[in-house]
Amino acid sequence: MSNSKKRMVACPNCNKLSEFSPANSFRPFCSERCKLIDLGLWASEGYAIPAPITPEDVDELANQLTDDFKSQ
Ligand SMILES: [Zn+2]
Repeated sequence: MSNSKKRMVACPNCNKLSEFSPANSFRPFCSERCKLIDLGLWASEGYAIPAPITPEDVDELANQLTDDFKSQ
């Protein structure tokens, strides 16, 4: 019996196989990028807006996005 066979898992975001081990800190994702994308999708679902979006909402979102962009 060999104990060297790596346990592979398909990334939930892109389905790319990656090693499911402590060496892969992004598991079950293949990369930090996929992990962040997946977390972002979950987070956005938690911020569902019950009311229709108004022009003021759009302006506010645009300002937030601009601030995020500047801070990077
Ligand atoms: Zn991936």
